[in-house]
Amino acid sequence: LPLVAICGRPNVGKSTLFNRLTQTRRSIVGDEPGITRDRIYGEVEWAGRDVRLVDTGGVIPDDEALIPAEIFRQAKVGLEEADVIIMVVDGRTELAAPDIELARLLLRGGKPIFLAVNKMDTPELEAGAENFRRLGFRNVLPISAEHAAGIGDLLDEVWAALPPEFVAEEPEEAMEGFEEEFEEDMDGGGDPLPGAQDAPDEESKPGRRLRSHGEHISRETKIAIIGRPNVGKSTLLNALTGSDRAIVSPIAGTTRDAVDEVVTREGHDFRFIDTAGIRRKGKTKLLAEKLSVIMSRKHLEAADVALLVIDAAEGVAAADANIGGYAHESGRSVIIIVNKWDLMTEVGPDGKRLLDGKPPADQKVYEQQVRDSLKYLDYAPLLFVSASESQGIEQVFKKVELVARERRKRVSTGSMNRFLDKIDFQRASVPMAKRVRIYYMTQAAVAPPTFVLFTDRDVKLHFSYERFLANEIRDTFKFIGSPIWFKVKARN
Ligand code: GDP
Repeated sequence: LPLVAICGRPNVGKSTLFNRLTQTRRSIVGDEPGITRDRIYGEVEWAGRDVRLVDTGGVIPDDEALIPAEIFRQAKVGLEEADVIIMVVDGRTELAAPDIELARLLLRGGKPIFLAVNKMDTPELEAGAENFRRLGFRNVLPISAEHAAGIGDLLDEVWAALPPEFVAEEPEEAMEGFEEEFEEDMDGGGDPLPGAQDAPDEESKPGRRLRSHGEHISRETKIAIIGRPNVGKSTLLNALTGSDRAIVSPIAGTTRDAVDEVVTREGHDFRFIDTAGIRRKGKTKLLAEKLSVIMSRKHLEAADVALLVIDAAEGVAAADANIGGYAHESGRSVIIIVNKWDLMTEVGPDGKRLLDGKPPADQKVYEQQVRDSLKYLDYAPLLFVSASESQGIEQVFKKVELVARERRKRVSTGSMNRFLDKIDFQRASVPMAKRVRIYYMTQAAVAPPTFVLFTDRDVKLHFSYERFLANEIRDTFKFIGSPIWFKVKARN
């Protein structure tokens, strides 16, 4: 969970604010290893998203001679651990030296930061919050922790500054309550529980719940460029980000030296993950190859879509298949990029390839060879590009957008079961003993699309059975570029 730190000297209302925010879920006093006793952690849910809250605690002495150590400690906690910081001051008193010192340290850290001016219980006082702008904060919000005023606005602002979520729904979470959903669906015969998420919430005003959750994800796609050394990953990255590069910014919470590059096109953000890592080269060939596998796995973790880059002149090598295997298992969507296609088509006066004197390559034939070597990635679209010539680059963006959309697609339980009725399971080449009866199925999660099968027996689905089902699902519902996952639940 993302972490929000509350900082401020004592008596400004830090703990009142902390308690107000965590009231429904009592705070846990940190006794865990590595957590100092004086820090208090709790959880808050707002606008459909959970956040961990830390009261940085500590006693900041009023004696100015003793100030620095405690202030440094508190600022350090905030700056090192938190994704967003709320600094609290007492709006009814003059700014004290510790406030100013703490503000200075926190602002220097460069993290998203909000100044909550507390004890603003009346409108007249509220106007006074503006005075505190001279501390240098851009975001100044009047609140009354005790009277619960201004809290919603504060949370809205803080939540909007949180790092985007990697995956909106964990398959496990999405499974909860699924059975009820299914019953309901059977009764009504329509889509699962429309409006289930729109239940009114006393804490929040109308419209507030709609914010933050999922919005980032639909607009931004995180892309990992993976592959062996020298297949052209950094050249491809340059071609993709080249003149369109809009922002260079890391996602908070990722490795310190990671740098992302974001390209915005037609309202869609394409975030290329850890571009420093993509450009990193190993010293020796063997080391470089090992590093490329490690990097590929690391980049996959943070991605929605992987671009698996292959060198056209070399074809699919063992390491390509290895990396492709990781991509497949990671549940990310995959696009296979056959790079350096220029080398395969550039011919001399004799009509033969300059590269090796063979006839120019045919894309259909070539694609078949690649697919034969990467069988498990049969769902991955394949594109031919020439990164160094900037050829075929536009189609990469189009495909990324398509597969990003497809992996978040949801099929209703109703249509899933109408589809299930029509499948001819006799066609699946699965040994009799390995067959299971599927009573019904439903999509329990997206990204990657995950289906739960309710069966007569509690067994792991036979490989060919899974494949057969996945192919049938693809014939009807596509899910272009994304693996399809299954879970089995025996009905007893
Ligand atoms: P990386 O290790 O995967 O990042 O590979 P690089 O991007 O450094 O590219 C390795 C070599 O392949 C460089 O010499 C590039 O100039 C060359 N290269 C990259 N893309 C292409 C391409 O589309 N066509 C040709 N002919 N060469 C390319």
